[in-house]
This record gives sequence, C-alpha cells and structure tokens, in this order.
Amino acid sequence: MTTLPAILRTVGELRAATASWHLQGLTVGMIPTMGALHAGHLALVEEARRRTDRIVVTIFVNPAQFAPSEDFGAYPRTESSDVDKLAGLGVEAVFAPNAAEMYPAGYATTISLAGPALGLETEFRPHFFAGVATVVAKLLIAGFPDIAMFGEKDYQQLLVVRRMVADLRLPTEIVGLPTIREVDGLALSSRNAYLSAEERRNAVTLSATMRSVADEIRAGAPATEATMRGLEMLRAAGFKPDYLALRNAETLAEPQIVASEPLRLLAAAWLGTTRLIDNIAV
Ligand code: AMP
Repeated sequence: MTTLPAILRTVGELRAATASWHLQGLTVGMIPTMGALHAGHLALVEEARRRTDRIVVTIFVNPAQFAPSEDFGAYPRTESSDVDKLAGLGVEAVFAPNAAEMYPAGYATTISLAGPALGLETEFRPHFFAGVATVVAKLLIAGFPDIAMFGEKDYQQLLVVRRMVADLRLPTEIVGLPTIREVDGLALSSRNAYLSAEERRNAVTLSATMRSVADEIRAGAPATEATMRGLEMLRAAGFKPDYLALRNAETLAEPQIVASEPLRLLAAAWLGTTRLIDNIAV
C-alpha cells in the first residue's frame, strides 16, 4: 500500500516538516518543480530517494518567471495526478503553495544575477532567471534541504542555481542530473504537451540537429560554421530558433580555445507557439 505524501500549503508547514526531520537526524532532499510531472521529474525524485531519508517535492507554477506575454495561464496544472505519481515513489511531502503564499501583498524582493545568467535565455526571457533564483532561494531557505535536485535539461538554470547557492552560502548541495528523453531523442518537457501531432514529429529535429552539430565540432569543424549549419537544419524543419550556441560548460562564457575546455551546446527554438530548449555536452 502506498501512503499519500503530506500536502503542505504554507511556508510554515514546509519549515516545520523539514525541521522535524532534521531534529530526528534524517537527511532531506528537495525537488523544485512546476508540476505536470513526467519521467524527467521522476528521475530526480528517484535519485533523491537513493540519497536522502525524506523527500519534499515542490509544485509551484511561479508567476515571477513568466513574462505577461508568456504561457503562465496555459501552463498545465495536474496536481492530483502529480501527487499520485509521487506517492508511488514514496515521497513524504509535497509543497504546493498558492501565489499569495509565496508573494504576499507588498512583496518587493528579487535576487539580482550576473555570471551564468548573462546571455542565452536571458537575451530572450530577461525576467526569467531572477524569477527562478528568487523562488528557489525562498524554497531552500524555508526547507534547508541537504540536497536539491535539478535537471541538466535546463542547463543554464542549473548553473545559475549553483552560483546563487554558492554566493549566498546556502547549506544545500545542488545535484544536477542528465536529461531524460523520449526514444526519438526529444527531451521530456511539460511544454511538449502543447505540440500538435505534426509538430511533435518535427520536434525530433532539435535533438538530432544538436547531436549532428556536436559531432561536427568534435570532428574539428569551426563552431560558428557548425552552428550556422545547425540553424539552417532547424529552420528547414519549421523551427524558429532563438539561439544555438557553443559555450564553456562551466561558465557559459564564449569558448576561447575549443580543444582545452569543457563545452556545451545549447539551443532554444520555437515550433509554432511552443518554445523548446535543449543542450548537450560536446
Ligand atoms: P520544471 O517543472 O520544468 O520547472 O522542471 C523541474 C525540474 O525538473 C528542473 O530541475 C528541470 O531541469 C527538471 N527537468 C525537466 N525536464 C527534465 C528532463 N527531461 N530530464 C531531467 N530533468 C528534467
């Protein structure tokens, strides 16, 4: 028999639950999400299960990381099926606050970022990382988990969160896990649900293009030429790319001497009204 997770709605309840676990000498893992859980999220939960005694999954569609023109209203909200999936994995608690709990009237505090937050996503979604970092900081300060799990799917976000946690000296280890993909290579995302059947068939071109560009760069092709060819491949498949860029995998700075530093290829592209992102190691 599976036990349902405790559903926590207030920061006070989250704080009390994690404090009582810590007082009992138990370790705590946190997985921040926006819900609409898929196998990518569940892989983070399973890894937390292996590493910690108690798990809290947070489900919060964070208004601060959406621009007014973006999909905040349409974003899928599936709390009861999310909770069922988490019950199956033995998750002890789900923190699912409403917006007023996280941003009460008069709320006025936002984390300001530089370093890995500069460029790429920020060029197209300037509001995004301040919203993410602020809500993640609030969650980590409320729960003080021993570890928090993030997906490499959102690679720039993972680096932004790592930098923020290091800079604020928060006592949580940030664990990054590889992207979980569909069999054809498409990275799992809650936003894939927006794709029409035809778009879904074309979506495979994003990961295929990235693998092909990465192979060319590994084989010695100049990065600018390889990424230009990749952008053409994406456009030919009906994508409107925001960027396809090769960056230093640790800082996201533009690469200097390609052979001697870890590299990551990152992309964001629109298919119809859906914006997909992906990245791979080179
Ligand atoms: P989201 O609900 O989209 O905000 O994602 C919550 C967490 O799950 C983030 O750390 C994401 O990077 C991670 N995540 C989302 N999709 C995947 C995936 N396909 N594989 C691994 N992690 C993922």
